[in-house]
Amino acid sequence: MIIQDSSQEFDVIILGSGISGSILATILAKHQARVLMLDKSTHPRFAIGEAMTSHTESLLSVLSHQYSIPELDYLSSFPKINQNITTSCGYKRAFGFLYHHENQEQSAQERILWGVTQSSHLFRQDIDNYFANVAIKYGANLLSQTIIDTINIYQEGVEVTIKTGEKYTANYLVDASGYKSMLAEKFQLRKNPTRCTCHSRSIFTHMVGVKNIDDCLSGISNQENILPWYQGTVHHVFDGGWMWVIPFNNHENSTNPICSVGLNLDIRRFPKNGKSPEQEFQDLIAKFPSVATQFEDAQLVRDWVSTGRMQYSSHSCTGERFYILPHATGFIDPIFSVGLIQTFTTISPLAALILKAIANNDFSSQQFTALAKLQQKIFDYYDHIAHHTYIAFSNFHLMNIWLRVWLLQHTMSVAKIIWSQLLGFLIVDKDGYQEKNILQFAEIDYLNDINPMTEGWGNSYVYKAMAEIAKVEQGLISADAAAANIQSLVNSTNWLFRSCGLVNPDNRFMDVFDSPRYNFSFLAYAFWVKLFLKKEDRPFDFKFKNFIDAVRLGIKV
Ligand SMILES: Cc1cc2nc3c(=O)[nH]c(=O)nc-3n(C[C@H](O)[C@H](O)[C@H](O)COP(=O)(O)OP(=O)(O)OC[C@H]3O[C@@H](n4cnc5c(N)ncnc54)[C@H](O)[C@@H]3O)c2cc1C
Repeated sequence: MIIQDSSQEFDVIILGSGISGSILATILAKHQARVLMLDKSTHPRFAIGEAMTSHTESLLSVLSHQYSIPELDYLSSFPKINQNITTSCGYKRAFGFLYHHENQEQSAQERILWGVTQSSHLFRQDIDNYFANVAIKYGANLLSQTIIDTINIYQEGVEVTIKTGEKYTANYLVDASGYKSMLAEKFQLRKNPTRCTCHSRSIFTHMVGVKNIDDCLSGISNQENILPWYQGTVHHVFDGGWMWVIPFNNHENSTNPICSVGLNLDIRRFPKNGKSPEQEFQDLIAKFPSVATQFEDAQLVRDWVSTGRMQYSSHSCTGERFYILPHATGFIDPIFSVGLIQTFTTISPLAALILKAIANNDFSSQQFTALAKLQQKIFDYYDHIAHHTYIAFSNFHLMNIWLRVWLLQHTMSVAKIIWSQLLGFLIVDKDGYQEKNILQFAEIDYLNDINPMTEGWGNSYVYKAMAEIAKVEQGLISADAAAANIQSLVNSTNWLFRSCGLVNPDNRFMDVFDSPRYNFSFLAYAFWVKLFLKKEDRPFDFKFKNFIDAVRLGIKV
């Protein structure tokens, strides 16, 4: 229990001190807000949400420079985490998909391995503990092992009473308590049944003794040898589901022997059947010989968690004097690791909106409405992507081309953040972190800058591809026909963009972000976008001056 401030009055009370609550608390406290976090648990404690992506990392770098907090940038790559936070996290240098058929060895023809930046697998108990401490360092208060009794929201502020009777008041309340959101329950915001289109459940745990997948695959070709599979997130995919294998022990500087494992199933095809999670896992992997080999010596280090349908959603995430963060508002599926992307996309403008409200003593709910709408829109976008991904998993060819569509939109989102935002910050902060005019991030225009949905060109082909996949679900066309239609769609994208090599389905092994071909064509494409597309049609934008300054100063992103 850490209360640095003897007063019981705060600007903001945050429910939950997980990664989202602690990072928001850090930003607000750094900018002189009086913050109290209340958590029912105590750090370190288990948490799920372990795979990072270049999108999540770009957002953390943006947050770090936007609010001048170096510690947030430590999460933006494996080497930085390893040097500054903990050695218990894993390395994610690749993103691999292995397609499996029942009772067959995994085929070398049905593999996709893409190299990514020096990303990470977060051992969340240590990361969350670190950021709770960072928040305290910047002046936030934390009451852990605290049971909240009542929450009252009045016109003039909020009052939270804890089980022991103490009352805490604040001008604003943020719910970062995750799945069992107290505010969603209090205001009956959950949609039941959920509006999500994805239908999946999960069983997950941590293990030791999981073999390197490279030792379990037959026929690894020279072409495939661009990177070791085990130094990445491995997705074992089969019709109706997929499994993540997220090692923390896959780098010479990692000191954690653990590997995270999760099995995700379409709940309509694989309803819960009364078996224990361990039995269910063993029965499933027994069908896929290469997966069974990977786990033959594995041992659990904690109990399985077995969920029901994972999806939940809320019809609103804001109201008078409160805001509900993404994981407390809704959840879709772990595929493509979009949980933390949504969290940091929201926090980036939300922190500025709250700081502005404190400065003006005006907490009127309208100021938060545009962000709330965007948060819900992004959630629905990712839900559709997840739903169509499960259908695409019914066939390797469809999965192969759909993953390319996904990667192209992902690349656009990252380019938007790096070129539109981060580059400018890195130039300003070239000699050390400078304080920014934070109120600019509370402007409505900033929401467009941070929105990962590349409106116009970027989205239209994502939606068109999803429409093809939907026809497979409706039984209108075969999976192979859908794959061919999506291939034609992708072939019609801008030739500069196509020349990055990603659209060719035979290009199954590619060190994407390290590839000169990819980087050169993407750079050329960025200039084409700037020169030939109208502002409203550009999937992302940047300033020529920033580009020239970055080259002049030798800044690399
Ligand atoms: C199976 C699964 C796999 C996932 N994989 C990924 C992934 O690979 N990558 C990714 O980006 N995201 C992933 N996610 C999403 C990710 O877990 C969340 O985005 C992330 O954990 C959100 O962090 P948070 O701090 O908002 O919530 P949490 O981590 O859930 O923290 C909530 C905090 O609130 C506290 N709390 C809860 N209830 C109360 C209460 N009543 N009173 C006080 N305190 C309370 C808890 O003790 C906890 O400290 C996954 C999610 C699931 C379910």
